[in-house]
Amino acid sequence: MQAIHQPLKGSCLCQSIQFEIENSFRSFFLCHCHQCQKMTDSAHVANLFIDKNAITWLKGESKATHYQVPGHDIKNVFCPDCGSPVPYLNSNGKLLIVPAGSLDGEPSIAPHSHIFMEEKRKWHDEIHKTLQFDGFPS
Ligand SMILES: [Zn+2]
Ligand SMILES: [Zn+2]
Repeated sequence: MQAIHQPLKGSCLCQSIQFEIENSFRSFFLCHCHQCQKMTDSAHVANLFIDKNAITWLKGESKATHYQVPGHDIKNVFCPDCGSPVPYLNSNGKLLIVPAGSLDGEPSIAPHSHIFMEEKRKWHDEIHKTLQFDGFPS
C-alpha cells in the first residue's frame, strides 16, 4: 500500500522565509557542476523537482534574492539575510526546484542521479571511507 505523505515544512536558516510543500516530488538530482559546487560550498547540490503549484509560501516569498550565472541556465536563489538556498521556479516556469536542505523533514523519494559527473570533485569519491561521528569528533 502506498503511504500518504504529509506535506513538509521548509525554511531558510534564519526562518524569515518559510513554506509548506506537498511531499510528492518527481525527481531528485545531485548536480556536481562547478557552479553548484560554488553555490553550496560542497561537492554538489541536492535538488528536488515538483509541480510549481505544490508549494504554499508561509512567510517571506518576496524576500528571496537571486544570482543568475551568466551563460548558464543556473540560478542561485537565496535568503538575503542568512544566505540559505530556497525553492524557485525552473527556467521554463513549470517546475519548482527545491533545495533538499531547505526541507525540515524527509522527502518521499531518494536521490536517483548524480549529474555533471564530468566536473565532480575527486574528494567526493572518498566520502564513503571517512570516519563518522554523531556530533563534533571527540
Ligand atoms: Zn534566512
Ligand atoms: Zn549544477
